[in-house]
Amino acid sequence: MTKNTLYVVATPIGNLDDISRRAIDTLKQVDVVAAEDTRHSRRLLDHLGIRKPMMAIHDHNERSKIDQVIELLSDGQSVALVSDAGTPLISDPGYPLVNACRDKGVNVIPLPGPCALITALSAAGLPTDRFIFEGFLPAKSKARRERLQEVLEETRTLVYYESTHRILNLLEDLADLMPERRVVLARELTKRFETFLSGRAAELKQRLEEDSDQTKGEFVVMLAGAEPIESEGLTQQDQYVLKTLMEALPLKKAAQMTANLTGKSKNALYQLGLTLKDNE
Ligand code: SAM
Repeated sequence: MTKNTLYVVATPIGNLDDISRRAIDTLKQVDVVAAEDTRHSRRLLDHLGIRKPMMAIHDHNERSKIDQVIELLSDGQSVALVSDAGTPLISDPGYPLVNACRDKGVNVIPLPGPCALITALSAAGLPTDRFIFEGFLPAKSKARRERLQEVLEETRTLVYYESTHRILNLLEDLADLMPERRVVLARELTKRFETFLSGRAAELKQRLEEDSDQTKGEFVVMLAGAEPIESEGLTQQDQYVLKTLMEALPLKKAAQMTANLTGKSKNALYQLGLTLKDNE
């Protein structure tokens, strides 16, 4: 155990047996455990038979606590940073603290372990050679849709975190904006009701509406990346405009209007429209 060190310790995302031996040894040996929610993490420590002084460090007090932690570390103590579940800093508190430690030359040692996005990707059956993690989408519909629009052209696998409260809203937005995409929902990973569901967003939404148990718990939502559009410089945005207009207009008219709006070739759009129709 190195003194003057901040240990960033990953903890289980459900199954308590997923904690590493090294994490247990570190939690036993540090002077203080800094936790997102001390009551929550105390249950983990109790389960491991570890008693330690704890301090709360969460999104609302993190900046004011930084000096306190750096002082402890400078006094020769060692601190373990844990979050409620998984890897600290990954959609969890800790970034300002780790950044401050790096700035001040304080030693930071990561202890790898559970992380919901990696666990989900490892079993989803989507490409994992390149992916982007987008964390939580905004809660408000308009902002959420804007963020999704930003990645319409993204060809890498997309990964989001989502809660039980908004999973149906997200699927509705995806059904509207990316109706053809393959979506994989990873729910309650490492827990009793762990479930992977795969399909188009509209199908998954219907499935969840028919069985409300499937809306419960925590979700990682993964999407196949956009198919690169082969023809003549067309983008996913162009395709989106064309598809939207095709819902109300004959293909020829929709292609013409899309060409007017986007400045792209009417013929290329017409050909793309034919392909889209074939794929329906
Ligand atoms: N730091 C955590 C990690 O390393 O994955 C993530 C914390 S973030 C506040 C919580 C979100 O992670 C949940 O809303 C859910 O999207 C995802 N998550 C955490 N545990 C999960 C689980 N067991 N199954 C599915 N998703 C989970």
